[in-house]
Order: sequence, then C-alpha cells, then structure tokens
Amino acid sequence: MNRFHLLVVVASFAALASCTTNQSALLPPLPEVEAHVISGGAPIRMQPVALESASTAASSAAPLEPVRSVASIPSEASLEKEFQAVISSEDVDKETRQYIDRVARIFYRTQALLNDYDAKLDDYAKQTNVADGALQTDDTYARLISAWSLREETTAKITYFYKRANEIAHARMNDSKVSKDLQNRALLMNRAIRNTVVSSANSTNRLAKQNLLKELIEVQKSGAFSNQILNGARETSDFYERNKLQLARETENARKDEEINQEIEARAPEIKAALAEQYEKRTPQSVGAIAPGLGRSGMMNGFEFKTGRWALTFDDGPHSTYTPQALANLKANDMKATFFWIAQNVSKMPSIVKQAQAAGHTLANHSYTHANLPKLGPGGLRHEIIESTTVDVQNGYRPRFFRCPYGACGSQTSAVRQKIADLGLVSVTWNVDSLDWQDKNPQSVYERVKKQMAVQKRGIILFHDIHPQSIAASKMLMADFAAGQKKGIYRTVTIDQAFDELNTAEGMK
Ligand SMILES: [Zn+2]
Repeated sequence: MNRFHLLVVVASFAALASCTTNQSALLPPLPEVEAHVISGGAPIRMQPVALESASTAASSAAPLEPVRSVASIPSEASLEKEFQAVISSEDVDKETRQYIDRVARIFYRTQALLNDYDAKLDDYAKQTNVADGALQTDDTYARLISAWSLREETTAKITYFYKRANEIAHARMNDSKVSKDLQNRALLMNRAIRNTVVSSANSTNRLAKQNLLKELIEVQKSGAFSNQILNGARETSDFYERNKLQLARETENARKDEEINQEIEARAPEIKAALAEQYEKRTPQSVGAIAPGLGRSGMMNGFEFKTGRWALTFDDGPHSTYTPQALANLKANDMKATFFWIAQNVSKMPSIVKQAQAAGHTLANHSYTHANLPKLGPGGLRHEIIESTTVDVQNGYRPRFFRCPYGACGSQTSAVRQKIADLGLVSVTWNVDSLDWQDKNPQSVYERVKKQMAVQKRGIILFHDIHPQSIAASKMLMADFAAGQKKGIYRTVTIDQAFDELNTAEGMK
C-alpha cells in the first residue's frame, strides 16, 4: 500500500496538470515544458497550471484537513517562507528534488508504521486479557500519529510549492514585473516536483512503473480527475495487495531510513503525553460499567457497554456530499447512528440536518468551529460550547451529548468540562478509532476497525462523515453489523439509547 499513498500525490499533481485542458478556453495558454522521467522512460508533456484550477484541484484532490493530533499543518506564512528559500537557492532543481524525495520517503516510513500498528492490533486480538485502552496509550500509536502528522505537513508543503510555482509561471503572461529569472526558476521547480515524484514511484518496480505511467496519462486525459484518482488509488491498492512480498521488502528499506525515524521519534513523546492525558481522563469509567452521569466528571467512552453493543459515530459533518451517503447506507441497513456535528456546518445545511433527524439518528454537538477547547478562554468556550448548542436548537434539535474536538476536554476539573456539564450535556469519546482521517484506503480502515473491535468487544466507533474512505469503510462495517444482528452477535445502538439503557436498573440486555 506504499504506492497507494504515493499515487494519491502523483495523481494529485497529474490532476493539477490536467486542469489546463479544461481551463484552456478561459485562460491564455502557457508554453509546455517537457519533463523526462529519470529512468529514461517516455517524456511526459507537462504544462504549468492555471491559477484558479490549481487551487480548486488542490482542495478536491489533496484536501488539507485539520490534523487531529497535537501536531498541525504549517501556516501559509511559514510555507511561503520555505518556498522563497527553495526558489531563491543556487540550485533550485536539485534542492526541490531533494525536498520531494524526502516526502516520498516519509510516505514509505508512514506506511511501515501503519503496518506495525496493524500487526500490533493482530497481537492484541489474539490475547484474551488486554487492558482496556491499551491501544490508545501505546508507543506505536504515538509514533504512528506523529508520522502521519509529519506526512500531512509535508503534503501541505509540496502542494503549496507546486501551486506557487505555477502561479509564478502563469504570472509571466500578465505581469511583466515578474522577473524572467523567477519565472524560469518556477518552471524548473515544477519539473523537479513532477520528475521526483514520478521517479520515486518508478523505483519501486517495473510493473508499478508501467501502471503508474498508464494511470498518469489516463488522469491527464480525463476531466473527471477526482474519480480517476479514486479509481487509480483503488487499483493501486489492489495491485499491492497482490504484491505483498515486494511491499514488505520496500517497507523494510523504509524502516532503515534513520533520519526520518529520528524525526518521528522526536515528536512521539509530545503526542504520547497528550494521549496519556486523554487516557487518564477515561480511566475512572473504564471496565467498571459505571453508568455515565451528568456531572462534570461524567464521560461516556464505550468501555461501559455490555459485550456486543456497538455505537457507530460520525464526526465533523454535516458534509454536503458524504453525510447524505452515510445516511443512505444507514437506511439501507436499517441502522441508527450518532452524528457529532460542527455548528458552523449545521447552520449551512439545514436540510441534511432535518433528514438525519427524521431518520431517527442521534444528533450531538462537536463544538462551533472544531477548536482545541482547553486552550480557549471564557469567551471562546461560550462560543464553542454554548452558542454551538444554540445553533443546534435553532436547527431543530437539543443535543444531549458533546464530543470535544480532538478528544481534548482538559482535566476533570477543567472549565471545558464545567461548561459542558452546566448545559446538561454528557461528554462522549470513543474506544475504537478508525483513523479514517488519515488512511485513505477504505479496506484498511475497515480492517483496522475490525481488529480493534476484536480487542475491545464493545464500544463506540469513531468515523468522520467528511471523507470518502470513511463512507466506504463504514458501509462495509454496517453490512457486518446487519448480518451479526440477525445472529445475535452484535447490537447497534445510538448514544441516546446506550445512555438511557445504561441508566436504567436493568442496563442493556
Ligand atoms: Zn472532530
């Protein structure tokens, strides 16, 4: 699956380049630049991308999503500073090449960690007495998150670099103030980005190279690049499924990449500390089947469910495309879920909210803007917790539950917890994390959920209704639940039902 991730980058650039064909009627044509694949393959014709289409494609093909961990995507200002440093260097071609080469290695290393994590899950699943929450505080998990956030950062960088290089190249058509030297450097940078990404992928093996070039040409020809990218990614992931041995060897090589290893290791303690703090907050209510309460310390995380009870939860929506898909899948499986939505999205999509409500799903609050709550003052907390609840009420529902963005509510005595409790809301976290925000492959997202389910045996599963892979993976899971429900193995519940049942004398049956 290494190349799966890489392909998304490659295909994103291909999509960026292909935009010119769609936009040529609107914008003046730019001179073509011929880029040769390093290994001597056929030359690829590439064109600098028109400004508007570049930013549109960047957001649809390689979305820069908020990072869920403590690490974050660099700001525009810091990206611009780095860009200027590279573009003004003596050897812009070489420097860019090194830069992108590093990104490719980060992709490989990241995948190696993901494989490690999944292998660890396998081990846990085979054990009978695994402590609840062990997965969440595990070192591997911290390193995984740290590698992934590193990859998000780097992806943001190359996307930004590519976009800026194209902007400068494009400016020559309209702006004589942009120096010839700067334009040439921008074109050189474009070529270097393309060459390096393609050659990195080529170096994997001959078949991969052929597939990649084929896909690249197809994607360039097509106007519907989003679908092409998805299909290409799917095919590539199938390809790697069939070539696991080769992948294992490549992964082993990536493991030896000491420089990247060190960078990942350096970040892990900070992330581990954040995870540990989160785990600390869960401890009082894990295992002991204590019913969640309404007080400041009340928190529901799924550990208190009886064996076989599962709550599907979706965060960060509503999303105009993906939420309706999730709703349709739930309907097809006659299943109810819980949506933790962002108020600023809720206010924009009243019809989706109505639809979900009419279908009987639990609608809950996930703050106003997805802010990191423990860092906010009283005004910020009022906005994120109280005013967001008001928006929900205005849109037809009074939430009973609140999920802190990033799972970060602060300590048991925090002002965040107090505000949530003051409104009569109950905090809800999760004990099965699909990690769907980062892993773009639905099959592996699904498998990761299943492995964690095998360890946890009951609980709250976290998905996000804002990514295509989340919709596909949760759909597969719904099919399992539907089949398991008939056999009496599983029972799906909304957080509403779970809470009410846990607070009755009988509990859940
Ligand atoms: Zn969220």
